[in-house]
Amino acid sequence: MIIQAVSTIGMLCSHCGKLQLKTLSVFSFVHLGKNSFICTCGTPLLTLISFESKKIGIEYSCIYCGTPHHLVTRRELIWGEQPLRLGCSDKELPVGYIGPESRVMELCTEIKKNFVRLASELTSDQEDLDVMTDDFFVVYGVIEILGRLVERKKLGCKCGNHNLTVEILPESVELICDLCKAMGIIYTDNKDILRILEQMGAITLEENEMRIINDSLKGNHRKNIITEVE
Ligand SMILES: [Zn+2]
Ligand SMILES: [Zn+2]
Ligand SMILES: [Zn+2]
Repeated sequence: MIIQAVSTIGMLCSHCGKLQLKTLSVFSFVHLGKNSFICTCGTPLLTLISFESKKIGIEYSCIYCGTPHHLVTRRELIWGEQPLRLGCSDKELPVGYIGPESRVMELCTEIKKNFVRLASELTSDQEDLDVMTDDFFVVYGVIEILGRLVERKKLGCKCGNHNLTVEILPESVELICDLCKAMGIIYTDNKDILRILEQMGAITLEENEMRIINDSLKGNHRKNIITEVE
């Protein structure tokens, strides 16, 4: 088995949703017995702790559930040739990988592709997908929750329309009722919206009105609204 001196960690931050790439050196790890990594936004990403002989425990925060997951693996699997998958046990989806840099980059692109595929099932407009930024995982989460609401018939407009148009924009997802003029705006530049949507259970637009789903979270949302109205 080939052991490499450094491994790359590619992981999505559970708070800001951005992809983070970190370098993990086998030498500093053996020396310290512990390594923690933090996202550029300041949120902890993952911690590796060595215990017993050649075993390593990994605790990583999960973008889907917001709670940490744990994994115990062997040291050679972290610095081996095959990327190690950090998954969400609940959603059965990867949140990151540890392994050789090129493979990790490739797999992270794969995560993004899967997302684009999932998103395209909900939005028929290909142009929507071109505006994807690094925040795409927040967008993904929002689209996924909306999908569940649609299945349970919990997404609609007071005018009686349950078939809302979903449009993905750089900083928001818009819900549009084509029967009246109702519109809903979900800001996706903050991951907190995922928790809010989970708690809501249903979204009903007010007939002919514009509804901001999460304006109370960040002050700059109000600024955004004003510029949009202008
Ligand atoms: Zn972050
Ligand atoms: Zn999870
Ligand atoms: Zn309507």
